[in-house]
Amino acid sequence: MLDADLSPQEIAAWLRETNEERLQTLWDAADRIRRERVGDAARLRGLVEISNRCARNCLYCGVRAERRVERYRMTQTEILECAKFAKKNGLATLVLQAGEDRTLDAGFVAETVRAIRDDFGLTITLSLGERTDSELVRWKEAGALRYLLRFETSNPALYAALHPDVDGAGLEGRISVLKRLREIGYEVGSGVMIGIPGQTFDDLTRDLALFRELDLDMIGSGPFLPHSETPLGALEIRDGYWETSSFQSENAAASRFTFRYPTSNDQVPNTNDLTFKVVALSRILCPDANIPSTTAVATLDGSGGRKSALSRGANVIMPNLTPTKYRRLYEIYPNKAATFEDAETTLQTALRQIAEIGRFPGVGPGSSKRFLARVADVSKRER
Ligand code: SF4
Repeated sequence: MLDADLSPQEIAAWLRETNEERLQTLWDAADRIRRERVGDAARLRGLVEISNRCARNCLYCGVRAERRVERYRMTQTEILECAKFAKKNGLATLVLQAGEDRTLDAGFVAETVRAIRDDFGLTITLSLGERTDSELVRWKEAGALRYLLRFETSNPALYAALHPDVDGAGLEGRISVLKRLREIGYEVGSGVMIGIPGQTFDDLTRDLALFRELDLDMIGSGPFLPHSETPLGALEIRDGYWETSSFQSENAAASRFTFRYPTSNDQVPNTNDLTFKVVALSRILCPDANIPSTTAVATLDGSGGRKSALSRGANVIMPNLTPTKYRRLYEIYPNKAATFEDAETTLQTALRQIAEIGRFPGVGPGSSKRFLARVADVSKRER
């Protein structure tokens, strides 16, 4: 039975499944549950990459602090121009995303959130990394509704190997921020990378079980796509370990940080097929969540990838509205889809893809049903 009570053994079996007929039953179940629980509307979220500055050194990421890249931070006027475009084109949500830019002033973010709400009436999602409790509370009070923070992997050792500069708290700290976001009252989203070197099918099974345990409102996962000028961009296997190659460390990414992690016969591939299984299982385990067809899926397989994810459980697309001049600088992984387009082209592509699979763009904020039920419960208790 394909339902939210799937056991870890059943989740693992589906992740390993290769028989096309049986896989079709997985795609069909995810698509049916998506239709029954969140409907045929594809939710559009306008994405604005407001800063590529980052204090962290995640070993796969093209905007990590150590990489030499031109840095930018958008002005409030530029961000409000994106909000104006979103409003004019019927998008109800704006996602403000950045690296973990600790110089991105909390007051600037709060004022910008307020201005977007007051001037354009848009729903705001923030994706600004792990920030202090007072910042998260302040932004919620300013009117932000949602927060995205991917935990990337539920395996603490793999998480630590990928994020060597994270002080002490590691994966546990990240999960506690996710729980705190919930307490503050945000609609909370997370997700993982699929196919990280060393990641096993058991790891990915635990990732999916953690989505269910955290009762997430939004789940965004994509294939692992390392930037070539990072320690994970060139790996070699030595004595049973994935290691940053000597070529890499002697050249562009000369780095204090290197990757070393055991290889496994149970390695997850970083393919769209595996990503579709994660999307479908996310829908089955968390039927009321909003699940995007991510840009990373579109990067691996253009329009086909995005439409397949939408037909296998996803119900959200996040067209990039970042001004074209900044897009190439927000290169967290290479060849990111839509890097050289303008907002109009990117939005029209998304609308066409939605129409091509017989769906239609949603109207209104489109909060997750889990979130709306939780809010209703709280207000009932408070009455
Ligand atoms: S993944 Fe995020 S936190 Fe890590 S280096 Fe990239 S932008 Fe910074």
